[in-house]
Amino acid sequence: MDLHPQWHRVLIKRESSNLYHDVERMLERGYQTWPTLASGREAIGKLLRKTFSERDSHVITQANPMRLQSLRADTRATTIAARPCFLCPEHFPPEELGILWEHLALLPNPFPALPEHLTIASTRHEPQLIADRWNLYLRLARELGPSMAVTFNGAGAGASAPDHFHFQACRADALPLLSEAQHLKPCFATITSWGRRVLTFRDDNLSALEHRLSFAHRLLPTPPHPFTEPLLNVVIHFDGQEFRALLIPRAKHRPECFHATDERRVIISPAVLEMAGVVITPDQDNFNKVNERLIRDVYGEVSLEEEPFTRVVHSLEKASA
Ligand SMILES: [Zn+2]
Repeated sequence: MDLHPQWHRVLIKRESSNLYHDVERMLERGYQTWPTLASGREAIGKLLRKTFSERDSHVITQANPMRLQSLRADTRATTIAARPCFLCPEHFPPEELGILWEHLALLPNPFPALPEHLTIASTRHEPQLIADRWNLYLRLARELGPSMAVTFNGAGAGASAPDHFHFQACRADALPLLSEAQHLKPCFATITSWGRRVLTFRDDNLSALEHRLSFAHRLLPTPPHPFTEPLLNVVIHFDGQEFRALLIPRAKHRPECFHATDERRVIISPAVLEMAGVVITPDQDNFNKVNERLIRDVYGEVSLEEEPFTRVVHSLEKASA
């Protein structure tokens, strides 16, 4: 494989055949050698947090100043084209380190929202498109194993580098939506808690699931230019036996409250973690404005509208019958 020479500076040697163990070792090493990473881990444990519950469904909000830049990121094509790509190794900090798996580099996120937060970037600068990568995605989730969930933000749905392909990963037990999906029926179901509209798939067969995810993806409406794929967030988890895949189709990236210029303004920029039940705000002021009603309003506003969602659900039910 042709790797940009700068990757050789970053990539460390695999020590075992267990990807998760190697990730843990990489993180341990990073905490020793990369001060930003070490302070990020420490800060994560001390964030202001509160939990909202509705029956068995939970949403956690946090005040996390480390995420400010990401929450306010300008992802318009012109801005993206003009900035140095932060997922290309020429622009990494000197302390950067990573593990190579196939053509992806597993990198620690120095500005974490959750424990063991990783960015998993392509070693090539190529667009954030998922259509041909369902097989890769499922194999990566299986390889990382039950401790981790692998997430994806589509362009226009929270990806801060829509020009450089990447997944993310975090501890699976940190995502409330994933525990909600534990007891759903096999094959296909939906989750509509807090006004979200989520498609969920459960299967022990990788190729069967790949086929169904790809089919579901093709059913979703494609938004207008400049996007070429449906606006989408995804969570995939392999529990050792079965996969669970959560597809969260979106109507738009940011809610009205993000753009408001008066006291209604709340900096919430929903990407996959928010949709999976971890609502990130940058500071205490914004954190204080989050309540059950706001969560419900934001989820309802940015999720794919009810009518196209129902159409997709009917097609998927027909296909699974
Ligand atoms: Zn890049």
